[in-house]
Amino acid sequence: MSATLKPGDTVGILGGGQLGRMLALAAAPLGLRCHIYCPDQQSPAFQVSDQHTIANYEDIAALAAFARSVDVVTYEFENIPTTALDHLSNHAVIRPGRMALEVSQDRLTEKRHIADLGIAVADHMAVSSLADLERAVGTIGRPSILKTRRLGYDGKGQVVIDRQIDLAMAWNQVGDQECILEARVPLTMEISVLAAGSPDGGIRCFDIGENRHENQILKTTVIPAAISQNLADEARAIGEAIIQSLDYVGVLSVELFVVDDGAPRLIVNEIAPRVHNSGHWTMDGCHVSQFEQHIRAIAGWPLGDQGRHSDVTMVNLIGDEVETWQNQLADPSAKLHLYGKGETRAGRKMGHVNLIKPNS
Ligand code: ADP
Ligand code: MG
Repeated sequence: MSATLKPGDTVGILGGGQLGRMLALAAAPLGLRCHIYCPDQQSPAFQVSDQHTIANYEDIAALAAFARSVDVVTYEFENIPTTALDHLSNHAVIRPGRMALEVSQDRLTEKRHIADLGIAVADHMAVSSLADLERAVGTIGRPSILKTRRLGYDGKGQVVIDRQIDLAMAWNQVGDQECILEARVPLTMEISVLAAGSPDGGIRCFDIGENRHENQILKTTVIPAAISQNLADEARAIGEAIIQSLDYVGVLSVELFVVDDGAPRLIVNEIAPRVHNSGHWTMDGCHVSQFEQHIRAIAGWPLGDQGRHSDVTMVNLIGDEVETWQNQLADPSAKLHLYGKGETRAGRKMGHVNLIKPNS
């Protein structure tokens, strides 16, 4: 099992969504092939990849055959059962490793890991029953947010505990699952840092963007974020510390809240052990995109220059907004990225557009 790929080698990607698709598109110019593993027959990444396997993450025989056919395995979403990685690790190098997946799959483990590094997270408590919830609300107070520990995304699996809400109803709403209650932070801005770690221990961080959400789904990322140099440096230092703590190879994203109670400070919201929607601006704003950087890292190749040559506003095209694609193209400098998804659904990420203003 070689740790350094050669041109012509194959990257195995678990997950076939738009992130897998854009990883495969970034691997191609480097002379690398991709093999996508995904249960969904209509996976957007299949359209641009050399090979694909349609099988679920419990299919041990399919996982073994996949692992044997590739030179490194990576993943584009964090909800892959760790048992799948255990089967794969008998046959292939997995980057980023199991620890990153395990820590980030569970909001409680994730918060504890980050807090143990001396990095601020929101006050939180584990909640496994209605009685726990009542106790936790007694301690943390309202407003707070009840979140399922696992499988949440785009605000799914979350209930705001405001002054009015009945706790039994809230508990029902999350479906009686292992949860955490966290204090609702009086944030003034949401930002994220994308950090890349290489097998030799090198770390490079992209510039910091401001993320704006609509209906808890990322709508735009604006680069650069309107924050001080100090705060940007602090965000990058947090990215580096998390990469080091997880022995991380690949691109990692960290979502942060800016809180201003006199002086602005940072609180980590969550991490994702993968390329991230808030890094899509790098495709057209940087010398090397987050996707190329991830491929370089997991291939054991030198990281590229993550420097930014343009200011960018990234706008997600969600649901039927994708039908505006022609209007987007009316601006000749706008860079349109569509994900090739067959079916348009409300709330589904269908594409994005990068609006670019080169730095003179
Ligand atoms: P998801 O996994 O769905 O992205 P997040 O924990 O990132 O879940 O929550 C989605 C959004 O909800 C965040 O981007 C932020 O806008 C808001 N949010 C989540 N947690 C908090 C919090 N503790 N305080 C304030 N806002 C929050
Ligand atoms: Mg989030």
